Amino acid sequence: MGVPLVDLQAAHAEVAEEVELGFKRVIANTAFVGGAEVAAFEREYAEFTGVPYCVGVANGTDALELALRAVGVGPGDEVIIPANTFIATAEAVACAGATVVPVDMDPATYLMDTDAALAAVTKRTKAIMPVHLYGQLAPVERLADKGTIIIEDAAQCQGATRHGRGAGSWGIAGTSFYPGKNLGAYGDAGAVVSTDETLATTVRTIAAHGGLVKYAHDLIGRNSRLDALQAVVLRAKLARLAKGNAARRAAAQRYDALLADVDVVRPVTLEGNEHVWHLYVIQVPADRDGVVARLNADGIGAGIHYPTPVHLTKAFDGLGLKKGAFPHAEAAATKILSLPLFPQITEAQQELVVERLKAALA
Ligand SMILES: *Cc1c(COP(=O)(O)O)cnc(C)c1O
Repeated sequence: MGVPLVDLQAAHAEVAEEVELGFKRVIANTAFVGGAEVAAFEREYAEFTGVPYCVGVANGTDALELALRAVGVGPGDEVIIPANTFIATAEAVACAGATVVPVDMDPATYLMDTDAALAAVTKRTKAIMPVHLYGQLAPVERLADKGTIIIEDAAQCQGATRHGRGAGSWGIAGTSFYPGKNLGAYGDAGAVVSTDETLATTVRTIAAHGGLVKYAHDLIGRNSRLDALQAVVLRAKLARLAKGNAARRAAAQRYDALLADVDVVRPVTLEGNEHVWHLYVIQVPADRDGVVARLNADGIGAGIHYPTPVHLTKAFDGLGLKKGAFPHAEAAATKILSLPLFPQITEAQQELVVERLKAALA
C-alpha cells in the first residue's frame, strides 16, 4: 500500500454522477465544441477568479502563447521568465516568435526574483511572465510599474490570491486544466483570463481560426478551443475547488507539523498570499535522486518539479546560457522533491509518507 503523488480516482469519485449527466446532455444536443457548456464554464470561472473575461482554449501552453500574441508579442521582442518553471512557459514565448530571457528565482519561495526580472528589462522587453509556482502567486505588484506588460502563468494556482487579488487581475493570465492541476479536466484544456475585453476577444479570435463569425477570417489564427465534454468536467470540479483547496491547505499544514523535526527545508508562503498548494515541495540535504528512487520503490509517489531549469535544457541551449547563470534555480533543481498532495489525502497517508521519507533519508 502506497500513496500516489496525485489521486485522480478519488477526485473523480466526487463528481462522477454530475459528469455522467453532463456528458449525456452534451451527447444529446451534439454541441461538442464551444456551445452552452463552454460558455457557462467561462462565466463561472471568470466569476470564481474575480477577473471579468475568460476564454477557454485547448491547453495551458496555448493559453500562454495566445495571451502573448494578443498583447502583441512577436519576433524581435524579449519576454522575461523565471529559469525554474515547467518548460511550457518558455515554449509559449518561443512559439510566439519572441526571445526567452530567463532570470533567477528567490531561493526562499522558488518564485521569480522580481529584482532580477526588473534588472533584465531592456528596450526590447515587451513582457514579463511571472509564474505562480506550486500554488502561490509571485509578487506581481513589484513588476507593475516598469511599463512592460505582465502575463501571468497561472497554471498552478487556481483559486490562489495575493493581497486578495487573483491571477489575471494584473491584466492577462493563462492557465492550464491538465488533469493533475488543482482544477483538472479529463484531457487537455486551458483558459486565458483578462481584465481587458479587447484582449480577451483577440484571444478568442486567434483561437477560432482568426474569426468570430464562421468563414470570416480576420487574421491568421489557429484552432485552440475548449470542448464541451471538458467544460462539463471543469464545471463540476470548479464547484468543489474552494473546498479542495482548503483541504490541500490543511494537508500542507499537517506536513509542516510532521516534518518539523526532519532534516529537510519546508516550503515558505510569501506574506500576503493565500496558497493553494498545487505542490508541496521540500529540499533534502543530499542525494535527492536516491531519496526519490527509494520513496518511489517504497510506493510513495514523490516527484521533481522540475529537474532541469529552462536554460539548461537541450531545447533552449540556443540561448547560450551555461551552468552557473542562475545559481539559485540550479541549486534548487538538484535538491527539491514534491511529496504526495491532493484534497483527499488522509492523515494516515501523510504519516506514511513522512515515515518512509525518514527511512529514505537515513
Ligand atoms: C501545466 C503547466 C503549463 C502548461 O499547461 P498544459 O495545459 O500542460 O499545456 C504551463 N506552465 C506551468 C507552470 C504549468 O505547470
